Order: sequence, then structure tokens, then C-alpha cells
Amino acid sequence: MSEMSIGEYFTAIFSNVWKNIGDIMFHVSWTNPYFVLLLVYIVAFLLESFLPAKKPYSVLGRKGFWTDLGYLLFIDFLFGIIGFIALTYTVEFAFTKGMQAMGVSLPLMNPIHLPFWAQAIIFFVVMDFCQFFAHYLLHHINFFWKFHKIHHAQETLGFASTRHFHIMEYFVLKPMGWIPAGLLGFSGEEYILLYGIYMWVAYSLVFFSHCNVNVNFGFLNKIIITPNNHYWHHAKNIPRKYGVNYASVLMIWDHLFRSYYLPTDPKLIPQLGVPDNDVPETFWGQLIYPFKTLFKKEEEQQVASTKSKK
Ligand SMILES: [Zn+2]
Ligand SMILES: [Zn+2]
Repeated sequence: MSEMSIGEYFTAIFSNVWKNIGDIMFHVSWTNPYFVLLLVYIVAFLLESFLPAKKPYSVLGRKGFWTDLGYLLFIDFLFGIIGFIALTYTVEFAFTKGMQAMGVSLPLMNPIHLPFWAQAIIFFVVMDFCQFFAHYLLHHINFFWKFHKIHHAQETLGFASTRHFHIMEYFVLKPMGWIPAGLLGFSGEEYILLYGIYMWVAYSLVFFSHCNVNVNFGFLNKIIITPNNHYWHHAKNIPRKYGVNYASVLMIWDHLFRSYYLPTDPKLIPQLGVPDNDVPETFWGQLIYPFKTLFKKEEEQQVASTKSKK
């Protein structure tokens, strides 16, 4: 398989996905992401409907709900089906090929001889750190921030806001998660199972963390992502320069990177959004927004430099 070119590999996976699309979509299995997601949506929707609300709007009446639903269908189903699955495999394949070309033999370790629980812990921790770090980069690198700003420009939050982000994020976040697992030598059935476990926990918690619910999770706020700490991640006036609480599941990474933040008064609820909100409200406007602003910036810089030369 490693003899294949990257293009051939992508085409092979892509056509395989298309051939089995029915199975992938409708196969009822705890390790099928589409099935898991559907359950997570339903549970999140019910929790948001019946638990006390944090912000004064209803689940469906929230401004932005229908745009978010469009994002959710686009990101999780349409894009996922038409290319994303093939794309993530291809990124991993290209990475492995590149590493081999540089003389690095993979995997870096062979976890198969370890007991299952130890493999599960290693996989979970590595995966979660990579998700955290990818999110950290989305906030700290200006080029990435232009894309991630779409997720933060939302002025209301609910469970469907989870998937309100620019499609380019998948080119950073997802491969970041897959590559280390490949490096560590997780593969085959074992990998699918371990990935399934992480996916269950991460999907459930990430969707729940966007829910408009007013429940104080107390000490749990310091350990895992919750609506309490994630709403502060979305604060309009962020407490630190690049933001706080980047975690996907475990808050330990925020404690280590000193980016954890939660006010002691649980009644304090932040205003949501970004201070300089120039992000359009429509889906298509948001899709081209980062490219437009990046281009505009360059143009402005050029004008400024020609002016200073004069
Ligand atoms: Zn963020
Ligand atoms: Zn969020």
C-alpha cells in the first residue's frame, strides 16, 4: 500500500467510502460515528430543553439556531460523507510516507503487548492532548484564528453551536488527532475501538458544554469540560489575551498551560461573542470571510508600506 501515490490512495479510499455509504450512514453500531452523533444530538437537545436555562432564550427560538443546524448537517454529514473520511486517511498516509522518506521508522512504540486498559489510557490522553493543542494553536496563530473566529463570533450558544465552525478547522484539528495515534502504532480493530471510546466521551462532553443550561458542576469544572467553563471560553471580553479553557475533555491541559479560568461566583455568566465582530451572519459569508480578511490585510499592508516609502 505504501507504494501507492497520495492521489491514488485518496481515490481508492474515496471510492470505497462511496461504495459503502449506506452501511456507514445507517449501520447501528456503538463505533459508528454517525449513529453516536445522532444519539448525542438527541440527548443534548433533551437536556437543553428540560434543565434550567443559563441565557434567556429557548432551544429552537435562539437566534442562530437554524444556521447552526445547517452547520451541523454540513459538517457531520455532507462534508463527512463526500470527502472528509477519505481526506483524513490520506493526511495520515501522507504523513507516514513523509516520515518514512526522512528515515523515521514507524510506529515509535508498539502498544499491542500492553493490557487493554493501559492502551486505552495512553490513547485517550494522547488524543485529548492533541485536540487541546490544536485548539490552542487555533487561538494563538493569527492565520488559524481567522478561521476559528467563526466559532467564536456566535453571540448565543446551544448544543447545535458545537458544529458552527469553519470547515478549514478539519484540516488542522482532525489530522492532529489521527497522526499521533498512527505514530504510536495503534491500528486495525483495536484502533477503531479506542477511537470509538474517545469519540463517545469527547462528542458527548463537547456537545453538552455548549448547551444553554444553568447547572453548577462544582469541582468537576476543574477536571472536565462543562458548560460552566466552556461559556468562559466563548466570553466576549476574554480574561486572557488569547483566551482560556481550550480543553476538549480534560482540563488538566489548561492547568498545565495556565489557561484555566473560572470566576469563583457561579452566578457570573459572560456575554458571548468577539469584541471586533465583523463576521457575516450567513453560512456562505462565513465560508469566505477568513480568505477575504487575510487578503484584505495583505492589501492594507502593501498600501501602508508604499505610503511609508513615499
Ligand atoms: Zn476556541
Ligand atoms: Zn465552543
